[in-house]
Amino acid sequence: MTFKKNIDISFELFPPQLVNNNFDRLKIVCQSLLRFNPKYFSVTFGASGSSQTNTLKLVNHLVENKITTTPHISCVNMTKERLEKLLAQYLCLGIKQLVVIQGDLLENDTVSKYSDFKYAYELVEFIRRLTNNTFTISVAAYPEYHPRAHNSDTDLTNLKRKIDAGADNAITQFFYNTDAYVNFIDRCHQFGITVPIIPGIMPIHNYKKLLKFTASCGAEFPLWLRKLLHTHEKDDNAIKEIGIKIVTQLCEALLRNGATDLHFYTLNQAEPTANILKNLCLGVIK
Ligand code: FAD
Repeated sequence: MTFKKNIDISFELFPPQLVNNNFDRLKIVCQSLLRFNPKYFSVTFGASGSSQTNTLKLVNHLVENKITTTPHISCVNMTKERLEKLLAQYLCLGIKQLVVIQGDLLENDTVSKYSDFKYAYELVEFIRRLTNNTFTISVAAYPEYHPRAHNSDTDLTNLKRKIDAGADNAITQFFYNTDAYVNFIDRCHQFGITVPIIPGIMPIHNYKKLLKFTASCGAEFPLWLRKLLHTHEKDDNAIKEIGIKIVTQLCEALLRNGATDLHFYTLNQAEPTANILKNLCLGVIK
């Protein structure tokens, strides 16, 4: 069945802790999401050495399975030499797109002792200088502003710096407030940012985890939503049902307000994202 709207969908995965390179569970997740004809699957970049190695393993695995893959690359423990090697590996794998971010450190780690890069725009500049226009580059954007930004203007100036350094588009942090996105797009235009700003969508999997995520990344957890989910805290099915309904409505509002792409933070689970996409009648179900 072909659906009516021509919206690009992408999915984020994180590299699981692997025993014997066992990707079986993730394979089922990918199979289920491939039905929606995604533009790509992106793979996050961890803060520790082993999780960074697992990013490369998962990227390899997806490419072997002919899945269009977009690895994330961060400043964490990233020397110029290491980045050159990683980019060469990605070129060999036929990777065409990257998500380039500063990256979050593990607690009690210290950044850039081992890094040649402090901010994402420096990575973008370096990658562009080294590889010209080989890669499409996405960077991160924050409709509710980055928690470490001095103020909203300096955060937008930073986003502009990343675009001027060569980024082709930005993917947003998740949010549950359509007005935040609409207002952010207006402000981007005021700052001369005209590239696509792709909404990052976090399906609601679990109330407690969402409390933690919102606290750690500085995204607003609207009071009405928190109270609604809190009421049903002990009923996993009710949380899932409410989550699917609320996030479907959020996506509908974003599409009405001009979003042309949706990027889903799947947390390596197919079901909530798949249900939202079915509600939206998006993608091509084979
Ligand atoms: P930057 O753009 O470098 O900005 C970081 C902060 O520094 C901002 O407050 C900015 O305003 C400020 N700043 C930037 N430049 C300057 C300057 N010159 N002077 C002063 N201040 C400045 N984390 C991971 O660890 N792995 C991932 O794979 C990952 N993927 C992500 C994907 C998306 C789509 C998003 C939205 C986030 C992702 N993150 C990931 C989280 C991200 O790494 C964190 O939010 C991080 O704290 C900021 O990353 P950034 O690229 O936005 O940083």
